[in-house]
Amino acid sequence: MNTTEPTPTPAPAAPEPYDAIIIGGSYAGLSAALQLARARRRILVVDAGQRRNRFAVNSHGFLTRDGQPAADIAAEGRANVAAYPNVHWHDGTATAARRAGSSSGGSSTDGTDDEGFIVELDGAGTVRGARLVLATGVRDDLPQIEGLAERWGKSVFHCPYCHGYELNEGRIGVLASGPLSVHQAQMLPHWGQVTFFTNGVCPLDDAQRADLQARGVQVDDTPVRRLVNVATVVLEDGRQDIMTGLFTYGRVHMTSPIAEQLGCAFEQGPLGPFIRTDEGRQTTVPAVFAAGDAMRAASSVALSVADGAMAGIGAHRSLLFGVTPFAAPMMASAASPAPADAR
Ligand code: FAD
Ligand code: MG
Repeated sequence: MNTTEPTPTPAPAAPEPYDAIIIGGSYAGLSAALQLARARRRILVVDAGQRRNRFAVNSHGFLTRDGQPAADIAAEGRANVAAYPNVHWHDGTATAARRAGSSSGGSSTDGTDDEGFIVELDGAGTVRGARLVLATGVRDDLPQIEGLAERWGKSVFHCPYCHGYELNEGRIGVLASGPLSVHQAQMLPHWGQVTFFTNGVCPLDDAQRADLQARGVQVDDTPVRRLVNVATVVLEDGRQDIMTGLFTYGRVHMTSPIAEQLGCAFEQGPLGPFIRTDEGRQTTVPAVFAAGDAMRAASSVALSVADGAMAGIGAHRSLLFGVTPFAAPMMASAASPAPADAR
């Protein structure tokens, strides 16, 4: 279906359950919603409107929309989904979710509760859904350097595939935030002339220094004071190093505690936890699916849209054929309990 006018149907107060509730209505959630909408399921999308990339104007690397405004891509996705009359929308936050108590006093044969899940909406009561898709994304906790936060997404980035090309092979700073930053410094030479600011948080051994040198990376161990102008690094000794752009890693955190509330298992990624899913994007909690940044160590618009499509199809197939248990991948790493910082 093709549309230009988004006319989302508000969440009705009807007591009957939705076939699926999608929490998070950005790239991953919208992509899941589209599959379920086209399968003629009655669905609700709940979205708080805080995309992770809202700090950047343009989005790169998503085929057919390369270099276009990130907000336009999301808005057009919403219009695509809202065009289906079986899609309902709630602008706001899902504050909590739990399995609905079974009125028959037991679980169905497929191991899920008969009555699905209850989701609490901010200021709008509760809704019920047979399946959940968690597409709530992550938030970035950035290194605490004066001048960095206001440059995030403009001249300070984390993903070279998203924003490296536009730096036109200019001078690129990599600001260390921990040991993993070596990896970022090793990658960036394909995008420009790299200076790696270790800033006291990324001590290098001789082998790492030799490796960086072989890649043409300059290492500067002087502490960083602040950022000024476009991406000029002001060092503690008073020097100013003019950069075209700067890369750094923040820690990532779940934006929502709902996966933890439901008992989903997490994986520990190098930058923070993400929800464990199987190939059908089902979490370790039957009938709960996840897509996008919330279930990947490193993600993008393209990967989120792909995950969302899989989660939407996975949720739909489980409506058709019954819930299957989480299918552990062949090479599974150990699932860990919910992280302490997922709140
Ligand atoms: P998000 O887009 O983060 O959306 C999650 C949605 O869920 C939000 O709308 C949020 O408000 C909502 N939500 C969360 N919790 C709740 C709740 N409890 N109730 C209701 N709603 C909720 N990727 C690229 O491919 N190209 C780029 O150029 C690019 N640039 C980037 C620039 C920056 C600065 C950053 C930080 C990231 C960039 N990315 C880019 C990565 C990209 O932003 C993410 O991969 C993508 O947004 C993930 O999509 P998502 O749908 O999983 O999550
Ligand atoms: Mg989403």
